Amino acid sequence: MFDDLRDLYQEVIFDHNRNPRNFYVMEEADRKVEGFNPLCGDRLTLFLKMDGDKITDASFQGSGCAISTASVSLMTEIVKGLTEVEAEALFAKFHAMTTGKEEEIDLEAVGKLAVLAGVREYPARVKCATLAWHTLDAALKNEQASISTE
Ligand code: ZN
Repeated sequence: MFDDLRDLYQEVIFDHNRNPRNFYVMEEADRKVEGFNPLCGDRLTLFLKMDGDKITDASFQGSGCAISTASVSLMTEIVKGLTEVEAEALFAKFHAMTTGKEEEIDLEAVGKLAVLAGVREYPARVKCATLAWHTLDAALKNEQASISTE
């Protein structure tokens, strides 16, 4: 299903891994949550600036594999300007894309995140791709200071 796009996708992931977007410590962040994926060793700290229920800015720090770094880099770009509800809806679609049934995948709905669709073929890498989103989920719920995928 993804064969034609595979090369382009890998190029985007490679680019985001090499030049992560929004890679800095946000001093004035309203939310700060650490995420850890012990299976792979991916670690990240997510920073959010909020205006009411709207995410006005997002950044991250940390180190991880190419998939986790590309995923969080893409996520910090795409969630800027979204409300909490919109971000959670996008997480649900992203989750379906990486773990759900093939007929449930809506690549148009996830926009640029479609480059990570290939991880569904590698179950061990799904947690690398979803770590950023689980961390965002915790940050939006403002419940915990750190999360782990295990
Ligand atoms: Zn990883």
